[in-house]
Amino acid sequence: KNLLTINDLKVEVADDNKEILKGINLKVNKGEIHVIMGPNGGGKSTLAYTLMGHPKYKITNGEIIFCDTKINDLKTHQRAKMGLFLSFQYPEEIEGVTVEEFLRTAKTAITDEQQKIIPFKRLINKKMEELSMNEEYASRYLNVGFSGGEKKKNEILQMSILNPKLSILDETDSGLDVDAIKIVAEGVNKIRNDENAFLIITHYNKLLEYIKPDFVHILLNGRIVKSGGIELADEIDEYGYEKIKNEFAGL
Ligand code: ADP
Ligand code: MG
Ligand code: MG
Repeated sequence: KNLLTINDLKVEVADDNKEILKGINLKVNKGEIHVIMGPNGGGKSTLAYTLMGHPKYKITNGEIIFCDTKINDLKTHQRAKMGLFLSFQYPEEIEGVTVEEFLRTAKTAITDEQQKIIPFKRLINKKMEELSMNEEYASRYLNVGFSGGEKKKNEILQMSILNPKLSILDETDSGLDVDAIKIVAEGVNKIRNDENAFLIITHYNKLLEYIKPDFVHILLNGRIVKSGGIELADEIDEYGYEKIKNEFAGL
């Protein structure tokens, strides 16, 4: 039931030789929700990009094992086909491409099967109904005039349609309002099952009022310095990161 194992992962920025991740260990099983918290600059996004195979990040030590396969050297699209998903925002508005067309193209790329228009429309309508989304959303142009919440809807729909085994959500976008957070949380709660898992990066406790994680990890200075349950998030809510920073000041 293991989905992801990270062993002593060290990562540098490719042209900088600056070590950002300094030995990450993490195990994620099917059915689990893991949350990673930590102060700005700790390396949370670096971990997300490295898992996805972003060429800017160079693995200098350790291994990433996903679905029993070492994926260190796989390209991003190969990882995506295996069921890894990173929700990141498409910053550009794409005039002339609707949400539905975008998702159909993405599904075709992931499955290597041409998605026919009518059956795909049926699929997307079913998924949108499950997610309580308004039908007309699918025919809007991607990101054009989207609110923060509407961009999040697109990410949730992507997850629902592409059906990844492990979804990584990097929520550090500080622009999220409560409505957008609720969209993400409700989406995750509907999509989660015994066969998939989530790695949710956040420094907002708000999200954890709606999503009940199995594990919370604190990433500080390129290391996971603490792992526990929801009580860790409560502790940070109460004391901020100062206490943990002091505790691990030598690292
Ligand atoms: P977090 O997501 O926890 O805020 P990041 O992974 O974004 O942390 O950043 C960790 C550290 O790595 C920071 O010091 C940041 O400046 C540096 N870093 C991350 N990505 C790059 C990059 N592409 N080029 C140079 N430095 C980077
Ligand atoms: Mg940051
Ligand atoms: Mg970040």
